[in-house]
Amino acid sequence: MEKAKHVIGISGGKDSAALAIYLFENYPHLDMTYYFCDTGKELDDTYRLIENIENYIGKKIIRLQNDEVAKTNENPFDYFLKSYRGYLPSPTARWCTKKLKLDPFENFVGDAPTISYVGIRGDEDREGYISTKKNIQSIFPFRKNIWAEDVINKVLYNGNISMISDLYASHLNGRQLDKVIDIVHTPFDVDPKDKNITKRNRRNKLEQLLDLGVIPFNKVVFDFLKTTEYPLATEEDFPMLENDDLLIREDIFKILRESGVGVPEYYEKKPYQVEEKTGEYARSRSGCYFCFFQQKIEWIWLYEQHPSLFIQAMEYENAEEGFTWNQHETLADLIEPKRTEQIKKEHLNRMNRAKSKDSKFLIDILDDTESEGCAACFI
Ligand code: SF4
Repeated sequence: MEKAKHVIGISGGKDSAALAIYLFENYPHLDMTYYFCDTGKELDDTYRLIENIENYIGKKIIRLQNDEVAKTNENPFDYFLKSYRGYLPSPTARWCTKKLKLDPFENFVGDAPTISYVGIRGDEDREGYISTKKNIQSIFPFRKNIWAEDVINKVLYNGNISMISDLYASHLNGRQLDKVIDIVHTPFDVDPKDKNITKRNRRNKLEQLLDLGVIPFNKVVFDFLKTTEYPLATEEDFPMLENDDLLIREDIFKILRESGVGVPEYYEKKPYQVEEKTGEYARSRSGCYFCFFQQKIEWIWLYEQHPSLFIQAMEYENAEEGFTWNQHETLADLIEPKRTEQIKKEHLNRMNRAKSKDSKFLIDILDDTESEGCAACFI
């Protein structure tokens, strides 16, 4: 059977960068391929980060491009924009993700069994991008549950209860096994009318099993996968089974700083003034500088911190045709002094409200919207 490829996509964001460093440090025997899908419209900080990671790991990060554009000398985003006749991508028409990220990645992988490592953190509540291609399996090393949702659904499927109990019996014994078997043998309620209830029940069962031991759970899942056609079935062993780390936002910044790779400049907060008060803004994501998933305050950050890029983003808009980055307002509207002031005021109020609730977690959510939107841009 063909051996699996191990790949990690570097998006230019902090989490995938930290994951590359983490895997290099902790799993040096995994033969990892690093890649970066270049949209051609990233901030300079992103390109610097890619070089810093290359220097740290002593390995080239492969730049992937859509085959169609690779034959030309054109900028990847501009090439496809032309073929879409100036129609800007949006949350509901994300041709950019498909053409600039997904297609190059899936072509690169081809039909080879592939394990794709994804930097979703232990303090995030999202699944991330999961390829529809059967030969690509995602693993999430920063979470307590390293497995993707589709794998968990199969392992915890009520019809597999006796198989999973048998697998546990080969890894545990005594009281610990008894406790686990009690949980395994309790089917979770499936509500055919409400998927969310089923999902919540399944998740509860998963949490209970993980609480009784992440490593035995991982071993059971691995044994289960051996009976399937998932890419991991091609591996004799998988060092990540022994992984029970859980990394959160602070850990990510620590890895980047301590390794010397550094935190991309755009994450560093800068002060802004509004009504004689001082707020702070930064960019929360990597990706194209004009990404339509960015918050209004990030557009203002772009305007004030990188005015020439903001002007370039404006030049893509054609209000008459309805081609704008944001619904209902153009970038020219956004930088009208009154509108800018309003955006800053709203942002400052939101941040103050979060602080007054003394919610570090909420501030992190407001600060960190990388989790929203372009999941596939963070494959
Ligand atoms: S970062 Fe935003 S604009 Fe760029 S490819 Fe992803 S979704 Fe599209």
